[in-house]
This record gives sequence, structure tokens and C-alpha cells, in this order.
Amino acid sequence: MAICNLCPPGRREHPDAAMADHLRTAHPEVGEDGTRKADDSTIVTDASLESAPEPTT
Ligand SMILES: [Zn+2]
Repeated sequence: MAICNLCPPGRREHPDAAMADHLRTAHPEVGEDGTRKADDSTIVTDASLESAPEPTT
């Protein structure tokens, strides 16, 4: 799964295979690699750590 940080909380998870198409259709201003074309900041993160416990401070 991939996380789309541009989507509202609870609707951010998308299958990896569908992520590029999602970005292209839902967020046309964002590049297919998950970066905003404007500033190259990464907006798609790997969800592989999703089940990891919350870091404690
Ligand atoms: Zn999205």
C-alpha cells in the first residue's frame, strides 16, 4: 500500500499499483513519482512501517 498525503485522513491508502493512476486523476498537479512538480517535496510515503508502534518521546 502507498499513502497519499494529499488525500483526507482515512482515505490516504491506495494500492501501490493504483497510486500512479490515482495521482494522475485525483492530483494532476503532482508528478507520478509522488512529488509535487512545483517543489519536488515527497508526498508519497512507504506504508511498510504502518504497523510499527507510535514513537514515544
Ligand atoms: Zn490522493
